[in-house]
Amino acid sequence: MKPLLLLDVDGVLNPMGRPTPGFRRYNCTIGAVVYTVHLNPRHGRRLLDLAISTGSELVWATTWEHHANEWIAPRIGLPPLPVIPLSPDPPSEFGEMFKTPHVAAFAGRRPFVWFDDQVWAEDEEYLRVHQGLTDFLLIHVDPARGLTSRHLGMAHEWLTLTGFSQGP
Ligand SMILES: [Mg+2]
Repeated sequence: MKPLLLLDVDGVLNPMGRPTPGFRRYNCTIGAVVYTVHLNPRHGRRLLDLAISTGSELVWATTWEHHANEWIAPRIGLPPLPVIPLSPDPPSEFGEMFKTPHVAAFAGRRPFVWFDDQVWAEDEEYLRVHQGLTDFLLIHVDPARGLTSRHLGMAHEWLTLTGFSQGP
């Protein structure tokens, strides 16, 4: 059972704050709407390195859903990734966010690390009750700054210490 690395886009790969050097601006056209995103091309390499070194699988957990493979992945050097479907919206039981039941259903019994700017204690609680497992790590990312090497380090350390890492 390969561990999963679940990836959000907005607030994680596309920070909401003023972009720092290293980020590039892109326009993405989805339907009739143009979205502006700021992406750091280095993120792709670093995520792939994490996936390879821990034997994990990268998966999108974003409202961009399959659009992330078209508009985000190629710009940061990621291959097309599996996508967690995020609809329909289930009623919230513990105050968890709308993504959490979908993440639980997708992950099943596979361990996972989840990078998101909207995961909180309620999501942790939901997952503990519903999975009956402790085999996940929620990494809350500051949406102003996005994903940093500290977050990647936390994921690497957890996967290694827990023994879920299947890497070299
Ligand atoms: Mg987000």
